[in-house]
Amino acid sequence: MLVIAEKPKAARKIAEVLSGGRARWCRGKGRAGYWVFEFSGRPMVVASAVGHLFGLHTGRRGFPVFEYTWRPLWQVDRSAAYTRPYYELLSLLSGRASLYVNACDYDIEGSVIGFMVIKKLGDLRRARRARFSSLTRSELMRAFRSLSGIDYDMVEAGLARHELDWLWGINVSRALMGSVRAAAGRRVILSAGRVQSPTLAELVRREIARQTYVPLPFFRVVASIRLPDGSTIRAEVARFDKRADAAEFAREARSARAVHVKDVAERSLSIPPPYPFNLPDLQAEAARLFGYSPYYTQKVAEDLYLEGLISYPRTNSQKLPPSLDVMPILEGLGKDRNYRALVDVLLSQTGGVLRPRNGPKDDPAHPAIHPTGVLPKVGRLNRAEARIYDLVVKRFLSTFARPAIYRFIRVELDVAGRSVTMTGKRLEEEGWLALYKPYASFSERVLPRLSVGQTLPIASVSVEKSLTRPPEPYTKIKLVKWMESVGIGTEATRARIVELLVQRGYATVVRGKMAATDLGLTVTAILEKYFSDLVSVELTRFFEKKLAEIRSGSTTREEVIMSAKKVLAEKLTIYKEKFMEHAGRELAEALGALQPKDRCLVCGRRVEEGNLCRLHLLALEELARKYPEWRERLAGLEPHSYLAMVAKSRYAGEAVRELLEKHLGLALSRLAADKLGK
Ligand SMILES: [Zn+2]
Repeated sequence: MLVIAEKPKAARKIAEVLSGGRARWCRGKGRAGYWVFEFSGRPMVVASAVGHLFGLHTGRRGFPVFEYTWRPLWQVDRSAAYTRPYYELLSLLSGRASLYVNACDYDIEGSVIGFMVIKKLGDLRRARRARFSSLTRSELMRAFRSLSGIDYDMVEAGLARHELDWLWGINVSRALMGSVRAAAGRRVILSAGRVQSPTLAELVRREIARQTYVPLPFFRVVASIRLPDGSTIRAEVARFDKRADAAEFAREARSARAVHVKDVAERSLSIPPPYPFNLPDLQAEAARLFGYSPYYTQKVAEDLYLEGLISYPRTNSQKLPPSLDVMPILEGLGKDRNYRALVDVLLSQTGGVLRPRNGPKDDPAHPAIHPTGVLPKVGRLNRAEARIYDLVVKRFLSTFARPAIYRFIRVELDVAGRSVTMTGKRLEEEGWLALYKPYASFSERVLPRLSVGQTLPIASVSVEKSLTRPPEPYTKIKLVKWMESVGIGTEATRARIVELLVQRGYATVVRGKMAATDLGLTVTAILEKYFSDLVSVELTRFFEKKLAEIRSGSTTREEVIMSAKKVLAEKLTIYKEKFMEHAGRELAEALGALQPKDRCLVCGRRVEEGNLCRLHLLALEELARKYPEWRERLAGLEPHSYLAMVAKSRYAGEAVRELLEKHLGLALSRLAADKLGK
């Protein structure tokens, strides 16, 4: 029997567990090797792939291209040379096997990896699938005693995803590169992707919104209120858009000279424990707590899985099924002194009745991420692994615990006829917070004791001008969360695609904040102009839904691929005939391969319209658009004082400030022209 694992580490773990530590290691070429032992009285060989061993390939040049075949990866991708020894060893071992078991990770990718090996090197008529969610003894024994047939729906969905991504990527990338070559005779590497491009487009939208941001003013009325114990608190009592309204209210508040306590209400609020982790939630927590990128967290979690310490991490499920045996896991964890204390707290809180707080999200293949109950050997884990492991353990324990209970106090004050609310809170019952330390903290906010009818003197009232803020830049985890919220990519691929944007030079990361580069802005502009629906979230999501339908057996790979080819063929033909030349020039100029005919007055990039590039043009338009609103809020505001205030603000976008710094006159004449036009 030949068992195919996804990675060498998994092969070792499977062999160790199934042989009871008696497996013999046989070396192949390079780092490749295999394990031999007897299982249930029959010889078993465990070997491994190293991720994908096969990839799509076409011999045709140019675009559109719709013909392709699956070939060994090392033959079609020079950077995949390391896969060759594994391919050759599996090829050799496959010749002698009587039965093939796909024991790759139980998800779409794993199903495809094992399937391709058996299809190309072995015999699908003698193939089985091992299904497991963690590399523990009990799971693996169960999986290998009850092997099932090949999971064709999952395989088909996986193959379709590869074909779809390949068709998209190669055709649109070739269209972009071909245009530059035709326009400037230069070869540049540009890439586009079915999921990558809509994600980049979102990052670019945020970048442009930030760069061209013009803040709006608003006015806060702040009162210093004297408390019975002699101390004072400063409280914002009202907010106004217009300065005149704020000044008027401040006058009223000063003449009222005191505030009245209208109402004091208290109530308890119960905060339920968190859901068990799926991968996106684990990535978000690790980013919040440790600053890890989603891709890094995923890699660390996969290592913990390969060590047999936690269950399979690439899952979307927030559920722990009733079939999961919790007690043995708690017993295992309890062998560690610190976890023992937490397990005791949990058992006393719940009286031993352990019901997880399952979330709404589900995954057909795996439960939520949970510890297996196997403890790491002392000193075996590095810092990141130890952190992620501890987080997974504590999250798992918390989800069974009791709610935390807060006491909220809400005080309503009357300030010159306006209601102002202040709230305070303190913790009444710790509940799950006791188990999720130090990852959740509760903040208390103490309010002075006040009773209804009390009057408090106002010491002073002031009006403070503030400015609205630009949208926050994306972090990697926020971009992953955005992809999840619009339904593109999968939990296994999203983090990698975000990473890819940085590798391709489309985005940079500074102190955790992502920004789109010039190249990212240019490629997106071209894609949006000429392939707008190809990079739309809608179309990507549509195909994502189709892939899920293949997985559940309600449509076929052939149908989905055919409709994708049709969409692509249409767009690409129109592009080639009508737009390629123009787009090629535009791209080449932006990439510096061609000299732009006209350069932006501010930055020297190619001109979009008038004397400005696209970014500075948008900045100018935004300045013009916001001016009437500023005049409304600050009566009588002259254009030059408006522009001076914006130029000084640190909330104004970079492109806006550049424009005002270098060509203030341009903005002034635009505002004057608007005035004349009206
Ligand atoms: Zn410019």
